[in-house]
Amino acid sequence: MSLEKVLKKIEELQDDMVKFTVEMIKIKAVNPAFDGEGEEERAEFLEKKLKEICDEVKRYDAVDDKGLRRPNLVGIIYGENRDRTLWIIGHMDTVPEGELSLWEHDPYDPMVKEGKIYGRGTLDDGQAIVTSYFAAKAILESNMRPKMNIGLVYVSDEEAGSKYGLYYLMDKNIFKKNDLVVIPDAGNEDGSFIEIAEKSAMWIKITTIGKQTHASMPETGINAHRAGMKYALWVDEFLHRKYDKKNELFSPPESTFEMTKKEANVGNINTIPGKDVFYFDFRVLPEYDLDEILQDMRKIADIVESEFGVKIEIEIVSKSKAAPPTPIESEVVQKLIRALKELRNIEPKAGGIGGGTVAAAFREIGIPAVVWMTADDVEHQPNEFCRIKNLVEDAKVFAYLAMAP
Ligand SMILES: [Zn+2]
Repeated sequence: MSLEKVLKKIEELQDDMVKFTVEMIKIKAVNPAFDGEGEEERAEFLEKKLKEICDEVKRYDAVDDKGLRRPNLVGIIYGENRDRTLWIIGHMDTVPEGELSLWEHDPYDPMVKEGKIYGRGTLDDGQAIVTSYFAAKAILESNMRPKMNIGLVYVSDEEAGSKYGLYYLMDKNIFKKNDLVVIPDAGNEDGSFIEIAEKSAMWIKITTIGKQTHASMPETGINAHRAGMKYALWVDEFLHRKYDKKNELFSPPESTFEMTKKEANVGNINTIPGKDVFYFDFRVLPEYDLDEILQDMRKIADIVESEFGVKIEIEIVSKSKAAPPTPIESEVVQKLIRALKELRNIEPKAGGIGGGTVAAAFREIGIPAVVWMTADDVEHQPNEFCRIKNLVEDAKVFAYLAMAP
């Protein structure tokens, strides 16, 4: 059978995949939002690689607020049917290495050891680039064509919001309603989890203003910290009680409402703070309305204000409404489930997560998109690695998707 030949080819290409990964990671591409050099040099390497196998390669350069070019690469391998495309989207940028002393090896001179490649960006999102590239290469080297076009998309700026990356590409008339989109940028250790939905997310800053005074004379001031804490606990309790629906698509199945960061207030213990600042992180099931939650928070703030004589400001730091989930019945989900059953003999589960992903950009415009890869939980960590076995096995899944009728 023709697919067998391609799968075997992928296994033969294992050493090339490792070499490709090492070469790519040596070219640093830390996102400029974290004072990195950006993706340009890595993109030049990848553009050359794409030109070796693609029928068409286009480059879309965004220019960011620092004046840096932020390249986005789109390579197409023609399929038997050229009207549709299987898009596989990986990002070129990485987060910084973080505390260097926590690494056992230079994060930008990858080490291959015990079946793993260690280095910043080897998994996130180097694995996506390598697996998608070699899936396509193996099909061509087996003298075959995919059923539909394969679109290899390597973008910038994923780690800082995708403004100069995927979002920059969205209005370029590249992606069509009938296409399939896979984003290998998160996954679990056996590849059994397929992400098809996400929760809405909101970050909120709460500032409570009272009046600073000496701790021995509380009646001469207004303790903003006490009012702020009272408010935090009230909101916490209220939201958990009112917005308590469960949706088993998600893990965890309920909305989460967490108070997180707390800003420092006064420098000494004997001062009553006149200002109190803390933050909430909310991950909310798509069936709830974020504005209704904000209205509830305002009502509680009004009560606390009059009870304590403080002023409470509610400031939205960020707010993103969940895109409609990708239906389980959609072709991309069903094909991926079939691929994983046949190639790995596992029972995959499609579900939702609490964080936002770039898949939302497609779901918003009605293109079903899944986030999937096989990955250990080491993204953004010191000693980040990808498993060579996963490079090979994920490439096989992409080849399956491209070759399956
Ligand atoms: Zn990533």
